[in-house]
Amino acid sequence: MATKEPPLFRDIDRVLIDREAIAARVRAMGAEVAADLQRAIDRHHDPADAQVVLIPILTGALVFTADLIRQMPMMLCLRVVAVSSYPGRSMASKGAKIAGELPQDLAGKHVVIVDDILDTGQTLAVVKRLIQEQGPASVRICVLLRKPESCRKERIDADYSGFDIPDEFVVGYGLDYDGFYRNYPQIAVLRAAATSALESRA
Ligand code: 5GP
Ligand code: MG
Repeated sequence: MATKEPPLFRDIDRVLIDREAIAARVRAMGAEVAADLQRAIDRHHDPADAQVVLIPILTGALVFTADLIRQMPMMLCLRVVAVSSYPGRSMASKGAKIAGELPQDLAGKHVVIVDDILDTGQTLAVVKRLIQEQGPASVRICVLLRKPESCRKERIDADYSGFDIPDEFVVGYGLDYDGFYRNYPQIAVLRAAATSALESRA
């Protein structure tokens, strides 16, 4: 009897970035971000005073952040922030809204905002502005994916970006459609049938 393929895999149309490519890139990014932070720390009068805070934007940055921080051999803290921009089955950004509290003790610290993808830029613009108001020592933006500049509604870019992708809706490695597919281990495009099946289940 043929084994039935689980829906998670059956719903994928094509893989844009496979797990080996993601792993290699995330390893290099972790090393690069850590080296830049270390240089910033070493410029402090007393480097022991310098503090590094990574702020992953939930929920999409969860998988990326988990892999990234394990490539950063340094003292750092994690403080999460939740932002909703693609509620439910929306495949277009509805504008960013901070859901819950932003960390309030970032003055003088080296902050790295981590997100899954830079699309319109609204999410990162809102989060960066609110963090900058607190007077951190530095703010960097690190994303796994970046859509073309023509998608941007805000003048913002990432300091570190893993891959430039076309303007397509992607899932996997933390990115969802209607809450699902975050655990698919690669960056992929869904079959049209999968999105319409989820829609008809409403
Ligand atoms: P922006 O505010 O830059 O338009 O969007 C950033 C957020 O929108 C990301 O953190 C991500 O959650 C979501 N997003 C943007 N493009 C995609 C996409 O292609 N697929 C998924 N699943 N989420 C996306
Ligand atoms: Mg997100």
